[in-house]
Amino acid sequence: NIDRLHSPKVMKDILSKYGFRFSKGLGQNFLIDGNILDKICDGINLGKEDEVIEIGPGIGTLTQALAERSKKVVAIEIDKKLIPILGDTLSSYDNVEIVNSDVLKLDLNELIEEKFENKKVKLAANLPYYITTPIIMKLLEDKVNLESIIVMVQKEVAERMQASPGTKAYGALSIAVQYYCNPEIVTIVPKNVFIPKPNVDSAVIRLDVYDKPKVKVKDEKLFFNVVKGAFSHRRKTLLNSLSASGIGVSKDQIKDMLDNLGIKENIRGEKLSIEDMGRLSDMIYELNN
Ligand code: SAM
Repeated sequence: NIDRLHSPKVMKDILSKYGFRFSKGLGQNFLIDGNILDKICDGINLGKEDEVIEIGPGIGTLTQALAERSKKVVAIEIDKKLIPILGDTLSSYDNVEIVNSDVLKLDLNELIEEKFENKKVKLAANLPYYITTPIIMKLLEDKVNLESIIVMVQKEVAERMQASPGTKAYGALSIAVQYYCNPEIVTIVPKNVFIPKPNVDSAVIRLDVYDKPKVKVKDEKLFFNVVKGAFSHRRKTLLNSLSASGIGVSKDQIKDMLDNLGIKENIRGEKLSIEDMGRLSDMIYELNN
C-alpha cells in the first residue's frame, strides 16, 4: 500500500515535511495527474524488461510509475535538496537509482555503459523547460544509444519539433530533430496538472530515433550551418538569407543550385524540406572542396 506521489495531498505533505521550496530557475513543476503518467509509460510501450533513464525526477512522481512498470530506472536530478526527499519517497523501490548531477554535464554514453552494461535503454522525462532544447539536442548529437525518447515539453516546442515545411512552426529545430528521429506528439497537457501551475501548455512527444540520420549528407556541420543560415531571416528569401549568412556562397551560385534542384529562386527557407536542405548543403560542399 504505497502512497501515490502524484496525489496532490501526498505531494503537499511531502513538500511541507521537508520545507521544500520550488525553484523557478530549475523549471520545477511537478505532475499531479496519474493519467498523464500512464500515457507517458504507454507512449514508449514500457514493459518489465525495459531499462529507463529519467531526467529530473522532482519528488519522484514519474519515477514511481516508471519503476512499477520496468526493470530498472536511473534518474538524474540536479537539485541536491531533492535527493533526501527521493530517498524517502522511493524507498520501497529497489530498482531505482538516483544520480545527483546536471544532465548537461554528464556523459550519458558512459552512464549507459556503467549502469546498464551498454544495453539500449528508453528515456523518459518531464523536462525543465528552460533547457529543453539543449537537453534534446545533446541526446541526439551525442548519439546516445537510446531505443526511444518520450518527453514532456512546452506545447509550442513540441509543435516546432513535429512541424512540416511551409507551416508557421517549421524551423531549424524541426530539421535538427527530424534529422535524427521521427517525432510524434502523444498528447497535449493542460497547465492545471502541475504544481505550481506553469504559464504555458505542455505536450508529451515521442521521438523514435533512426539507426541512421534521415538524410545522408557529405558534411554534417555544413548541413547544420546551411539550415541555420536558411532560417536566419524568416522574412527574406532563401537566396538572401543564405548569401548573407557567412557560409561563403554568392547569390549567383545559390541561384544556380536552386535551378539545378528545380526550386524557384524566390523560395523562403521555411518551405524547404530536409531532403532539399541536404542536397543544397552537398552542392555547397562540392563547390568548396
Ligand atoms: N519529474 C517530475 C514530475 O514530473 O513531477 C519533475 C519535473 S520538473 C518539470 C523538472 C525537474 O528537472 C526538476 O526536478 C528539476 O530540479 C530538474 N532539473 C532541472 N534542471 C536539471 C538539469 N540540468 N539536470 C537534471 N535535472 C534537472
